[in-house]
Amino acid sequence: MNCPRPFAAVLAAFVTLSGFTAGAQAPAPAPQALASLWDHEHVSSPVTPLVDHAEVKRRIAALAAAGSASVLHVAQVGASLEGREIYDVSFGTGPYVVLLWSQMHGDEGTATSALFDLYAYIDAHRAEPSVAGLLSALTVHTVPMLNPDGAERWQRRNAQGIDINRDALLLQSPEGRLLKKLRDAWQPKVGLNLHNQNWRTSIGAPPVGAAISLLSVAFDQSQTMSPGRVLTRKLASVVRDALEPLAPGRIGKYDDAFEVRAFGDNITKWGTPVLLIETGPYPDVNPDPALIRLNFVALARALGALADGSVDLADPARYDTLPLNQSLNLHTVIRNVTIIQGSGVPPFTGDVGINAVRRVRIDDGQRLLFESYQIDDIGDLRTAGRLFDVDGTGKVLAPSVTGATVGQEIRLPEWTKDRPSSTLVLTGYQAQLMLLRPLPNGAYIVERLFPGQVEIK
Ligand SMILES: [Zn+2]
Repeated sequence: MNCPRPFAAVLAAFVTLSGFTAGAQAPAPAPQALASLWDHEHVSSPVTPLVDHAEVKRRIAALAAAGSASVLHVAQVGASLEGREIYDVSFGTGPYVVLLWSQMHGDEGTATSALFDLYAYIDAHRAEPSVAGLLSALTVHTVPMLNPDGAERWQRRNAQGIDINRDALLLQSPEGRLLKKLRDAWQPKVGLNLHNQNWRTSIGAPPVGAAISLLSVAFDQSQTMSPGRVLTRKLASVVRDALEPLAPGRIGKYDDAFEVRAFGDNITKWGTPVLLIETGPYPDVNPDPALIRLNFVALARALGALADGSVDLADPARYDTLPLNQSLNLHTVIRNVTIIQGSGVPPFTGDVGINAVRRVRIDDGQRLLFESYQIDDIGDLRTAGRLFDVDGTGKVLAPSVTGATVGQEIRLPEWTKDRPSSTLVLTGYQAQLMLLRPLPNGAYIVERLFPGQVEIK
């Protein structure tokens, strides 16, 4: 979206802005307008786990190639333990410095994709009053993918096995040292720490997946309310009000207990109040686009509110009254089914809850993504949230047998304590299951097969 624009148009934009002061500019576009803009202009990949460091590097090179034709400035500011480049993409010339960083947990990539959409938006719309005002009021530094070694393996931790977000005091990870160095050098007035949350994260009753959860980060055990924390509570309120129309009832709040080792908490303590934005899950088989879209709107609105001063008018109670995160969300619940465990335990009736986990495998240099399904809970799961609900009334759930196909008539093996199935209908096991309809002759019709994992493309 680095389309060249006539020089006169650029000049006109800058002339219009010459008298700009923070707090007096055109307001940021409304959330729905930003979402619609994202629908038409986003550049992000539809599957975030497939965005590896090489992809980030390629996109960064494309931004850098635009040179002075772009308002984006690109610099390598450090490297991971294994030598992968870590970048700063910055924009704006204003006195109010903001720092955003994404993917300090390697398997939490939604915001990295949203940042690239944000860059494209800022650059393409720089002449519009709201973006031009943002560029005059703010200097925004962004570090996309702070943990590229973890991202390469699709794991939370870095190559040392350290959780960078618990390394703010010891500073043993090069990535953590870099983050502190950048914070100290730029002295941002506010920081946005961008993560993904566990897919079990839910809010409300009955529970639903928490699409975005916010945390105005504490800087001490007693959770003292400082001007910085008032600012991040107000900023969280701005984000809540921006996202709720797009994801009604799916915006939550993290417990704000102080974590002495965490970066957000310490960066807040060092003088840069931090708002944590945690992404996902979302009720969709392909969760990435919807979640990137929410991130994009959240970031654009948050920066807009900082730039035009409207954050000061936000009511912090809008953040305070968000529902608190819980951990009650499941991918699939097979409800009221007769469970044959496969170990010789007598059949019993209950619900079986399955959770999904994403795994990345690199085969011949090609990055493959799998969604893996595990049995998470068994029993009465009426209080659990779920993406998919399967009514098992009158049916049997059993471990899959090799070669079973849907519609086939089968007889179950004699699973006993001495000769159990290799997979069991038991918590912790991969969910390789068959849903069966019993026949009067003691056989079953296979109604549905649940695969232990599937490849996501
Ligand atoms: Zn995280």
